[in-house]
Amino acid sequence: MSGAALDDTCPRCGGGFHCGVNDARCDCFGLNLGAELKQRLAGEYPGRCLCVSCLKALQEEDEAALRRRETTPTAASPSAIRP
Ligand SMILES: [Zn+2]
Ligand SMILES: [Zn+2]
Repeated sequence: MSGAALDDTCPRCGGGFHCGVNDARCDCFGLNLGAELKQRLAGEYPGRCLCVSCLKALQEEDEAALRRRETTPTAASPSAIRP
């Protein structure tokens, strides 16, 4: 046993990692995940933390999706703000 124990398994990629949520310091705290993404993760992986590479990948996906949503006019938006 040496260093931080990889005592958790990432439910997304299956890789071992250590979540420091109980140490009050975790890599996931440093990521600025969107509220929607956090909600989605809580629904998909209840009570679980993902490894940092998965969180980063999801964060990038989420940001790209948001950017696409902002630039692409959606006809199915019921609350579209009109100028
Ligand atoms: Zn992972
Ligand atoms: Zn964590």
